[in-house]
Amino acid sequence: MTQRRRSRNPFRLLRDRLAEIERNSATRPGGRWRRANEYALLFSLPVAIVLGYLFDDLDVTVEREQNVMFRIGREGIDGPVIVVRHDPEYDQQPWAMTLPLGTVMVETRLIRRGWPVASVVERPAPRLVMTLILAPDRRIALADRAGVVAIESETGVSLDGVREAVIDTLEGATSLANLASAIRRNETTTTRSWGASIAAGGATWLLLFVVSTIAIRTAQLTAWMHARLRRRRVVRRLRAGRCPDCLYDLHLERFPKRCPECGRRIWS
Ligand SMILES: [Zn+2]
Repeated sequence: MTQRRRSRNPFRLLRDRLAEIERNSATRPGGRWRRANEYALLFSLPVAIVLGYLFDDLDVTVEREQNVMFRIGREGIDGPVIVVRHDPEYDQQPWAMTLPLGTVMVETRLIRRGWPVASVVERPAPRLVMTLILAPDRRIALADRAGVVAIESETGVSLDGVREAVIDTLEGATSLANLASAIRRNETTTTRSWGASIAAGGATWLLLFVVSTIAIRTAQLTAWMHARLRRRRVVRRLRAGRCPDCLYDLHLERFPKRCPECGRRIWS
């Protein structure tokens, strides 16, 4: 073993490692299959790093938390929007408005991305989600213009001014003003955990290496069985007194050096 100075240059490190694999495989049993396995270990690392980034979108979980609930209505068909804070525990309470429209929830979300370990956490701005009395199974994000227009034409109920009225109400309550400003800023904060990213990349690397080892072993076994079958066929044909390649009858010659028909080496 020669002592060499280790470089910090990643390309030089890679070149040294490749040279080491080539040098070792020449003097060691296992030959090209072992070498293939060492290449697989080396090259599955950058592939795992790239896959780690792509896998961020493979598994996405969303946790919803509903903070505050409001009852929404109007005083008369074209009257102003009425927003009343409501405690879902007391669902039987009468509506304090002449024309009830539905409820609005302030919803915060936590989106986790990554496979097999969640490495990225996104916190979008809180959003206002409305459920109309006339369409109790639907949840409409009030910031989603197209969704609002669709439900308005479906139910004939106008949601004009509802979003603004709810944000104004949030701003008016000291304990909820920060929710209002977060909705107005509409920013998503994204945090990546490097520990989790490394764990995910390591798991992917291991998985890739195991898969490529299985593939290499299968190829090795197939090649070995092929060689064995070929050897058996050669022996069988020689015993029958024929050329292993062209089946020329060799009975007439005693220990021929080559097949007179195709020139294959026989006893030389
Ligand atoms: Zn022959």
